[in-house]
Amino acid sequence: MPVSGLPPYDGGNIFARILRGEIPARKVYEDEHALAFHDIAPRAPVHVLVIPKGEYVSVADFSAKADAEVVAGFWRAVGQVARQLGLEGPGYRVLTNMGPDGGQEVPHFHVHIFGGRPLGPMLLEP
Ligand code: 5GP
Repeated sequence: MPVSGLPPYDGGNIFARILRGEIPARKVYEDEHALAFHDIAPRAPVHVLVIPKGEYVSVADFSAKADAEVVAGFWRAVGQVARQLGLEGPGYRVLTNMGPDGGQEVPHFHVHIFGGRPLGPMLLEP
């Protein structure tokens, strides 16, 4: 069931296709809860996407619908990926976009991990 007011999950989205192995991705981590792979158009020296394996449109959908074990497993994977990439010492940024104002392009919940250089201010000034 879609969360009220949110679009239903579209199984044809690009990350669903990566999960099904229909299109390639440069994987960096995988476990039962999550898959992580390099962004195709990196905006930092390290730019990795972490996605849950279940069908969630966005952080709104994920936070409303996913079981506690799935939520915990996903966030543990995010931390593990950053650690594996050597980002814990220098630091990194985790970001998720949701909906039109958030600029979300792919309707499968994902977080971006950015790192590899000082990342500057959190948002560009208006
Ligand atoms: P959003 O704007 O939805 O938060 O971010 C979607 C991200 O997915 C963008 O940074 C974009 O570069 C990335 N992306 C879009 N298509 C592909 C693809 O086919 N493969 C990979 N690895 N990344 C993609």
